[in-house]
Amino acid sequence: KGKKAGRRQVIAFDPDMLGDERHRRFVERELRAALLMDELELHYQPVFGTDMRVRSHEALLRWRHPVRGMIPPIQFIGIAEESDLIDKLGEWVVRRACADLAVLGTPVAVNVSPAQLRRSDFARQLGAMVAEAGIDPTRLIVEITENVPMIAGAVEQANLDAIRTLGLKVAIDDFGAGHASLQYLRGFAFDIIKIDRSYVANLGDNRIDAMIVGAICDIARSLQVDVIAEGVETEQQLEKLRLAGCSAFQGYFLGRPQALSRLDIASAA
Ligand code: C2E
Ligand code: MG
Ligand code: MG
Ligand code: MG
Repeated sequence: KGKKAGRRQVIAFDPDMLGDERHRRFVERELRAALLMDELELHYQPVFGTDMRVRSHEALLRWRHPVRGMIPPIQFIGIAEESDLIDKLGEWVVRRACADLAVLGTPVAVNVSPAQLRRSDFARQLGAMVAEAGIDPTRLIVEITENVPMIAGAVEQANLDAIRTLGLKVAIDDFGAGHASLQYLRGFAFDIIKIDRSYVANLGDNRIDAMIVGAICDIARSLQVDVIAEGVETEQQLEKLRLAGCSAFQGYFLGRPQALSRLDIASAA
């Protein structure tokens, strides 16, 4: 381990230093190396329909660092978003997910940062990758994930429209967690709402959260879009979500994110 890692273990990762400029530059450099050294992985978490069959998988990025081990996206996506690295990561994610689609046998959702949507040629590049992979575009879902606040300006809206014109589906991720979730509803067209897991967590004992989940499901029904509940960790939460009218469910209670090789593909729709 030591020899292969070489100089890369000289400075250790320290999450407490995340705000530190030196740390940011270090992670950025390590990430560029990671792309070249093939240290990134996609793990897949199943999403279940009301019939409790797997109807899609969400691709979640992991970084298998030679020294630090598995690093979760929260520790590096934000840093990547500050430079062109997020575009390179995003490209890698889409190519990998397209390649894995055939094995998975279900549609796949990839997470896309507002920083990527701000690039005027994002949709065109996405379309090119989908065409190159030769996959059915309706099997790819783009989750708009909000680590940096999204201001749905003209470029973002044009990208989202173009993505849907290509035949891909668009999901609003972590709905209710961002500062402007309701703005998104009238800002652009989309196919899926994902209820943020913070609302699911307290479903058992918080009346307000239960009301909000119900209201989001009502909105989804009126708009005729799907609604996926995130972070389902208990059977009781699942029951409440079913009663609220959720159309799909995702969470540790039903299935954890796993490497493609470890997924139980037999359960896939
Ligand atoms: P997300 O898109 O909302 O993904 C769901 C997160 O919740 C994942 O964390 C997943 O592992 C976790 N999760 C799933 N079920 C449960 C549950 O029952 N309980 C709890 N407590 N957590 C659950 P993960 O993989 O650490 O990803 C965190 C975030 O990083 C994602 O949130 C997404 O915003 C971002 N992300 C992940 N992959 C990518 C990517 O390829 N590109 C971009 N731009 N962002 C990514
Ligand atoms: Mg997501
Ligand atoms: Mg989410
Ligand atoms: Mg998120």
